Amino acid sequence: MIRILENLFPDIYVPSVYELPLEELRKKGIRGLVFDIDNTIAPYDVADADEQLVELFKILKEKGFRLCILSNNNKKRVRRFNQKLRALAVHKAGKPGTKKLRKAMKKMGTDAATTAIVGDQIFTDMWCGHRAGLLCVMTAPICERDQFATWIKRGLERQLMKLYFYRHKQPN
Ligand SMILES: [Mg+2]
Repeated sequence: MIRILENLFPDIYVPSVYELPLEELRKKGIRGLVFDIDNTIAPYDVADADEQLVELFKILKEKGFRLCILSNNNKKRVRRFNQKLRALAVHKAGKPGTKKLRKAMKKMGTDAATTAIVGDQIFTDMWCGHRAGLLCVMTAPICERDQFATWIKRGLERQLMKLYFYRHKQPN
């Protein structure tokens, strides 16, 4: 049971992508960042990247990170959202499947040891990342609005994250 949880829990939890621990990531050897879109870097029903996000991606690039968007959403959504971000992008990712994640790493020229996945969901993003052996960074979902199928999963995710935070409060 514990091992299953280790494959679902994040390695690092941050309230939002604007609080990514960039120095820590760099020290861990991370050179590439794979971002989920929906509810990680934008509300699922917002079509374009806002200025704050464009600025973040610019800073990340300047710091030398390779960036790729990896979304289970369709080509149209991913393409339009990426217009201002100008990152690499992979749509219909099929997370928690790892095939497209490997494709994203190939595009970035990074591997499992040098890439972190950043997402808001345990059962897609975190599981996908762990299966491929990546560092997994979880953010709080941006907003409460969600697709119905996602909303169903959220209840269980919330319970698991309660357990995660409880465990992380315990002294080792
Ligand atoms: Mg998401």
